[in-house]
Parts: sequence; C-alpha cells; structure tokens
Amino acid sequence: MQSPARQTRIVKIGSLTLGAGQPIVVQSMCATKTADVETTTAQANQLAAAGAGIVRVAVDTPRDCQALVEIRHRTTANLSVDLQESYRLAADVAPHVDKIRYNPGHLYHYERERTWQDKVRFLVDVAGQHDCALRVGVNCGSVDPAQQEKYGANDPLQPMLASALEHCELLDKLGFTRYCVSLKDSDPANVVEVNRRFAAARPDVPLHLGVTEAGMPPEGISKTRAAFEPLLADGIGDTLRVSLTVPVGRKHEEVAAGRQILADVAAGRFLAGTTKLDRLNIISCPSCSRVENEAFVELAERVREVTRYAADYPVTIAVMGCRVNGPGETDHADLGLWCGPNSVHLKRGGMPLGAFSFDEVLVRLKAELDAIIADQAGSR
Ligand code: SF4
Repeated sequence: MQSPARQTRIVKIGSLTLGAGQPIVVQSMCATKTADVETTTAQANQLAAAGAGIVRVAVDTPRDCQALVEIRHRTTANLSVDLQESYRLAADVAPHVDKIRYNPGHLYHYERERTWQDKVRFLVDVAGQHDCALRVGVNCGSVDPAQQEKYGANDPLQPMLASALEHCELLDKLGFTRYCVSLKDSDPANVVEVNRRFAAARPDVPLHLGVTEAGMPPEGISKTRAAFEPLLADGIGDTLRVSLTVPVGRKHEEVAAGRQILADVAAGRFLAGTTKLDRLNIISCPSCSRVENEAFVELAERVREVTRYAADYPVTIAVMGCRVNGPGETDHADLGLWCGPNSVHLKRGGMPLGAFSFDEVLVRLKAELDAIIADQAGSR
C-alpha cells in the first residue's frame, strides 16, 4: 500500500524512505536478549525475511551496545534502537544503526538536573553525526509528567499530543527534520483520535502507527485493525507495527499481520468491526530484550485461560513483561501483573497486592477477579 496522499516530509532510514507517497513500511521488534548476538541476529534476519523494513532492538547497557556492533555486521536489516532512560547510550550505538527511538517521558528519569531539551540536543547531535533518523515515541503508559500535570485532568489524550508537538518544535528549531512520531495507546479509539489530532496539527511529519500492548492474537490483531483501518483509510500512517504477545519464534507473525492489514485496506476490506472494550479486555506487552522471565508469554496465555469465564464483564487486565514498564503501564487496569525474575507482581486498581509465584498469582488473580465481578453486580 502506498503512503497517504498526506504530503509528509521524506525521512530516510537506512535503505528505505518514509513518507510522501512511499510504500508504507511494516516493522517489528526483536524479543530476544540483545546481548545474545546469535539469537538477536537470527531474529532480526527472520523479521526482515518476513518483510519487516525496519527491525527494532532494545538497548539498555554497554553490553547491549557491544552486541549491536556485531549484530550490525551480521544482518542487512535496517536497524532501529529503542532507548529508555539511558539516553547517553545513543552515542555508542548510533554508528551501527539507522534510527534511534526515544520516549519523551523517559527523558525525565535519569540525570534529573539536566533538562529534557538538553538531552534532545544530545540525541540530535549524535543522530546527525552518524546518519541516523529519530523517532519521538510517545506512549500512554509513560507520558511526559509535566504535560500530564498540565492537561491530564481535562483530556487524557492532550498530554500525549502536547508532548509530541513540543518535541517536534524543538527538533525543527535545532534544524533536525529527519524524524517521525508515534503516539501509542492500548485503546484503539484513543490511537485513532490522538493520531488524527496530530496529523491535523503536523501534516508534514511522518507517523508510525501502533497499538501498545495489543496482546495475544487473534484479539491483539483485531484491536490493532480497529485503530489502523480508519487511520489508513484517512491517509494517516507511514510506517506501522502490530505488537503481539507471541513467543520469540513467532514474532514474524507481527509482520504478516501488518502486511495483511495493509493489503486489506488497499483492497477496501475493512474487517475490524466494532472492538468492544466494555467486556473483559486483556492487554499484554509484546515482550522485548527487557522481559524478566522467559515464562512471560505463557503467563499471559494462562491469564487468558483462567479468566475466560469472565468474558462478558467490563474488566481490564494488564500483563507486562518487566518491572521497568510494568508498574506504570498497569496503572489504569483493574488488575495488573508484571514479571520480576522469580515472581509476578499483582495489583488491583493501582494498589499493590504483593509478589507471587507463577502458579500462586493465577489463584489470587482469580479471587480478585471474582471480587470485582461481585462488586459490579452489587452496584447494579
Ligand atoms: S513491558 Fe517491558 S518487557 Fe514488555 S515490551 Fe515493554 S519494556 Fe519490553
């Protein structure tokens, strides 16, 4: 499918070009440990062979950076790195990759005495020196706290939008225009709305589409379709990722799902129907190098099994793979679980309930779910 009539800037990323009439690029992300050169190279090649135009890799440590040097030698995939708090690692990885993704919300956590504007200047210098593009990756679970404080009470989407727009403004002011933006939420309706607002405000900036924590297939694909179909039909979106909770060996399914959605929309086939979030909704992360326990995907599948009986109740359960993003990204769920190395943390309505073994947590989860259902029945 061709990129929209919307005339965005052109952004070069490795061997491909985003925006302004170019084909829409499907991308994916490695779920392997980045420091494991063999498996990460194999995953990058697997994703590229499936049709991923860009393959993202998480980088959190100097060891990950060293691994990336070797991975670069072993794959021709266009590589993007995903940075969290350690934005300074950009200087080590930029010579070996084609794009750097940073999250405006994460720029607050590290070196607090330094302003986010200074940190963006650093990233721009590094990207400029090493022929890299940038992505400003705004995510509903880790929104810039200053924007959250300013707008959050009135309009949950405005902090995300304001954060993206102020980063675009700074990047432009610094003379760096080789960037795209993403605004991801776990609710497809929010993804549609916030991306429409951004596209209206900045029609020149290429957009990366995504539904964060869409979950396991087939539900994760349906939720993603519910967001992508209307946006693509409006001509919004220059690259996209379908984030699915699947085992490492099945990550190529993300690429297949993305290609299928593009083919269907190009042919006028709109299959999403109405995605109802007013019933049991399991959101789960797609896992990445940061996942803290290999049993995470199995945990998500078991959560789906043990909660199936509650399918008709309006309850949201979030299942996350690590303690970096887990606590924040489960804040808005009725029940939230996230993996540590040896246990699973559980919370209800934002309140921590403790850490449990993988088997114990399912028993407690079911007890809490029963209590929520009883409360709902009592308040009818
Ligand atoms: S929640 Fe953690 S493990 Fe899951 S995708 Fe995000 S960073 Fe990776």
